[in-house]
Amino acid sequence: MVEDSFIIRCDKCGTKNRIPRSRSTDRAVCGKCRAPLHFTTGYPRYAIAVDERTFENEVIKFPGPVVVLFWATWCGHCRGLLPLVDQLASEYTGLVKFVKVDLDKNQSLASRYQVQSVPTMIEFKNGMLFNRILGAVPKDQIVHHLKAILQK
Ligand SMILES: [Zn+2]
Repeated sequence: MVEDSFIIRCDKCGTKNRIPRSRSTDRAVCGKCRAPLHFTTGYPRYAIAVDERTFENEVIKFPGPVVVLFWATWCGHCRGLLPLVDQLASEYTGLVKFVKVDLDKNQSLASRYQVQSVPTMIEFKNGMLFNRILGAVPKDQIVHHLKAILQK
C-alpha cells in the first residue's frame, strides 16, 4: 500500500519532496539541501502543525482563508475533530488552508486570540480574524462556515 503523501517543492533548490501525511511537518526539511520546507505558498492536503514561531508566516501572512484549530492532547473532542479537519483540508485544498495549534505548547497564541476552551477553530482571511467556531461541531456546520468565508 502506498502511504498517503503530498509533494512540496523546496523553494531553495527546487527539489520536489514527498512528505508522508502521517509525519509531523513542523520541522520538515528538503531531502536534498536540508533547507526547511515552507508551506506558506500552498494548501497542504491536511492540517499542518503551527506554533508561535511559524504562526505569522503560515496564518497572518497567508493570502487566503486559514482555519486554525486550537486543540490539546488531553481533549477527547479534539481527537475526534483532528481527522475531520484533515479531511476538510483535503477537500478544500486550493481554497482554504487548515492548521492546528497545540494549546499547551503555545500559550501566548491562545491568550492573544482569547482561546478559553478547546476545541476552538478560528478563521482568518488575509491575516484578519474572520470568525470563531467553538466546540466540537459537526462537519456540515464547519462547511457552512467555510462557505461564508469563501463568499466574502
Ligand atoms: Zn532543497
